Parts: sequence; C-alpha cells; structure tokens
Amino acid sequence: MTSHGSGFRRRMPASAQRHIFLRREVLWPAREAVVNSNRTEIQDVDATTKEMKRLVLEMGADVVGIAAYDPRFLFTDASERAHRFVIVFGLSMAYDSMIDIGPRSQAEVHRVYYRLDDMANRLAHQIGAYGYSACAQGNRGDFPLPAYAHLAGLGELGKHGSLISPELGSSFRLVAVSTEMPLKVDGPKDFGFDEVCASCNICTRFCPGDAIKPDKQEVNGVVRWHVDTPACKPWFLKMHGCKICLMVCPLNTRGRLKAAFQAVAKDIREVKDAAGMVELIEQRTGEDYSNVVVEEK
Ligand code: SF4
Ligand code: SF4
Repeated sequence: MTSHGSGFRRRMPASAQRHIFLRREVLWPAREAVVNSNRTEIQDVDATTKEMKRLVLEMGADVVGIAAYDPRFLFTDASERAHRFVIVFGLSMAYDSMIDIGPRSQAEVHRVYYRLDDMANRLAHQIGAYGYSACAQGNRGDFPLPAYAHLAGLGELGKHGSLISPELGSSFRLVAVSTEMPLKVDGPKDFGFDEVCASCNICTRFCPGDAIKPDKQEVNGVVRWHVDTPACKPWFLKMHGCKICLMVCPLNTRGRLKAAFQAVAKDIREVKDAAGMVELIEQRTGEDYSNVVVEEK
C-alpha cells in the first residue's frame, strides 16, 4: 500500500473527493443569503435567538452558540462585513471512524464538513428570508472558526490547537453563519480545560511530527498553546489528515465519548509512544506510512 509522490487529494477516498467537489462547486457559490426586501423587524431578541438555535439543532447540529462579530479576527484576504453576530455550530465525527486515522477517518471528516456547510447555507438563507444579510462561514470562510467557537461558549482551545467541547471532546468540526440579524450573545465560558492541558502531555507525546509544544509560547505577542504547523504537515499529508492528537485527548471522556474512549485509553497504555501508535494504526488500516512522500495537491 506504500505510495511515493502521490498527491494528498488523489489518495483520498472517493466519498471525500465527492464531498469536496459539492462544497466547492455547489455550496460555496450559494453561501451568501438572498435578502428579502420585506424585512421582519425583530421585536423579541431572546425569542429570535432561541428560534435560530432551534433551527440549527433541528438541522442536525450537536452544539450551537452565538458570539459577537469582531473584525479583529478576519483572515487577511477577507473583507469586513456589516455583521454583528456569528452563530457557530458543531457536529460530532463518528468517533470509531475518526480514530481509524486512515482513509475511513478522512471520509468521515469530509462527510461532516459537507453536512455543516449545507446546514450553514440553509441557516443563512432562512435569516435572509427574515430580511437580514447573512453568510455561511465554512473553513474557507472569512475568519478562524475555533476562535469564534470559543467566543460563542462552545469550548476551549486545547494544547493540540483544536477546540475541545465539554459535550463532544475533540471529535467534532465547526461551521458558522455571520449576520446582521439582532441576536443574544452567549460569550466565552471557562470549562477548566486550560488547567487540564497544563498538566497533561498526551497529545505532545503521541504526535508523530513532534509538533505540539508542551508549554505555552508567545506567538505574535500572545502567549498560547502552539502547534508547529510545518512539523505537523508531512504527517498530516501522509496519514490521510492525521488526527492522532484529537484521538488520544483524554478530554474526550468528558461528554458522550466516555465509553468509546476506553479502547483508545487501552491503546495509549500499551503502545506508549508516537512510533508505537503509528505502527498500531498501520496494522489496523493496512497502510504503510514509513516511505510515503506526499505532495499537497
Ligand atoms: S491530550 Fe491532554 S494536553 Fe493535549 S489537548 Fe488533550 S487534554 Fe490537552
Ligand atoms: S495532526 Fe498528527 S502530526 Fe499534526 S499535530 Fe496532530 S498528531 Fe501531530
């Protein structure tokens, strides 16, 4: 199963490639809401907020929260919008697929991203029908989703660089809708995960790229957990979008993954380090990552 010089995209399972196509060619062009010129004035912000959250959960999301729009979080190539709020929602990845860390996990990631983008477009258009501008913000959107998820009270950033949710652990993905519709902000919450990360080094120990720094670092004037992206990248590319750091995070036990994490906890005890974990994953997936050289495209 070893492949040399094969592209990241070309090694993806067919369903992942299909979902990427649908997101790029169908959902992305329709992400801006069509705004009804006959606006429904919002009389009761609390009731409207509840209604928007109900819609999101009814569409199938697992968690939802609302943050204030803040142009300081824009990506450099994005333009500021006249939006005031960001509705952020998350959908869990099937944990048994996610921990495969092979093609099956990659298929699961893109299934979840497709569903999230689809939900976000539908929510944006619902808001547009009320007469307010709105835009679906997927992971190609205007701003970093984990920052807004934190501001919306959905979780805290872990040492592994991803958001950790009290309900979904590290096994979920995010999307958002930014809008001018008046809504009630949830705001960030302290779940105590930062203290847990300060005394836990499991993701650092099991990262095959040695990319997760054990202590906080100063990056662009901010002291925070830091993942060395260039060190992660080769492993991310060859291991079908490596997610070992998400798989081994013991905060997965805080919510609905408590029982499912027991098998991973046993693997962690038995394989002991990153090399042992990669070997175990190779045995389970039938992949051989030792000689894979992968180009990005
Ligand atoms: S594995 Fe440990 S250190 Fe890493 S994100 Fe999870 S709790 Fe934090
Ligand atoms: S994705 Fe893999 S290589 Fe990258 S930081 Fe996580 S464990 Fe390390």
